[in-house]
Amino acid sequence: MPRVASRNPFVLLDIETAAPTLPDGRSATEAMKVSARILDGAAWGARIREEIRPRVTAFTARHGRPPGLGVVLAGDSPASEVYVRSKLKTAGEAGCRAELVRVAATATVDEALAAVARLNADDATDAILVQSPLPAGMGRDAEQRVFDAVHPLKDVDGFHPDNVGRLVQRRPTLVACTPLGCIELLEREGIAMAGKHAVVIGRSDIVGKPMALLLLHRDATVTICHSRTANLPAVAASADILVVAIGRAGFVTAPFVKPGATVLDVGMNRVTDAADVDRLLAPDSPRRQQFAAKGSLLVGDVHPSVAEVAGAITPVPGGIGPLTIAMVLRNTLTAAELRMGDRRA
Ligand code: NAP
Repeated sequence: MPRVASRNPFVLLDIETAAPTLPDGRSATEAMKVSARILDGAAWGARIREEIRPRVTAFTARHGRPPGLGVVLAGDSPASEVYVRSKLKTAGEAGCRAELVRVAATATVDEALAAVARLNADDATDAILVQSPLPAGMGRDAEQRVFDAVHPLKDVDGFHPDNVGRLVQRRPTLVACTPLGCIELLEREGIAMAGKHAVVIGRSDIVGKPMALLLLHRDATVTICHSRTANLPAVAASADILVVAIGRAGFVTAPFVKPGATVLDVGMNRVTDAADVDRLLAPDSPRRQQFAAKGSLLVGDVHPSVAEVAGAITPVPGGIGPLTIAMVLRNTLTAAELRMGDRRA
């Protein structure tokens, strides 16, 4: 259902009903309880994509070809199909050349490596993205091997050790898209990071670790939490900025959150169990109809009730996801400009 910001910055309005809704789609009555400002990642993502479009046009005019993104998709995970389609569509709409390279679910890691090698050698491809997860049959170290094989200058996800090292040393070139999107959101929303206590729950190479480094480089005091962290709710509740990236539906509840804190919910969890839906949605939530129709629902790691405590919060969907996609586009252009000597690393 289309939504717009209301005059009251704390709630969104359904265009069709003019009734305020929460990020989880709850009703006007429920919206009255919300104190958090909703950080509209979808709107920011759209604006960033618009900003990038003229740069793509200028690149194309300068070099006689558009920036090229190659995406390797191994296997047939429906979620990966959706993410990849969205990345390719965004790149194509912005004027980039977007190529999908499929690798069979039964393929070996060598076949995935061959796909990357071909894109590395292709002059029209400036940026390469390997959609994770790779099929389990490729082996435990497959992802690391395939990410390592991407040429560092074409590494749109910033996962290559050269790019991770550059980030650690505070001279980043290509940085992981999801944490980059989180920082972009904080900056554009005017949320101060310097001197603030930022807590990142999750320490993955893809989200948690680069997120912590980006916050550190903006002078936040950063605590990284994980599955072995003691007193997690208390540590989280000391955060001015709480970033949650763990992959557990609605795990972070109100006691984890300091009143007024900014909460970025990176989690994307597909819920198929009605009991989970009962735990996560109010009885009158319109998203229940969505669940009934589809049999699944996309939810974050943060319980919707946190919106009653936080000062600002990202919804799921429509929060960090669209910013990640926008950063894939921006990194594609950055990689192209780096390769063609338009900018220096
Ligand atoms: P991951 O590699 O599985 O890492 C999960 C992290 O969460 C680990 O560090 C783990 O700790 C920690 N963790 C798990 N359970 C925990 C608990 N009970 N308490 C504290 N920490 C816990 O996941 P990821 O790739 O970082 O992704 C995290 C979430 O973000 C997923 O839902 C994913 O779908 C989503 N995501 C979204 C986007 C987007 O565009 N919005 C992009 C990427 C990922 P240990 O290290 O101790 O195991």
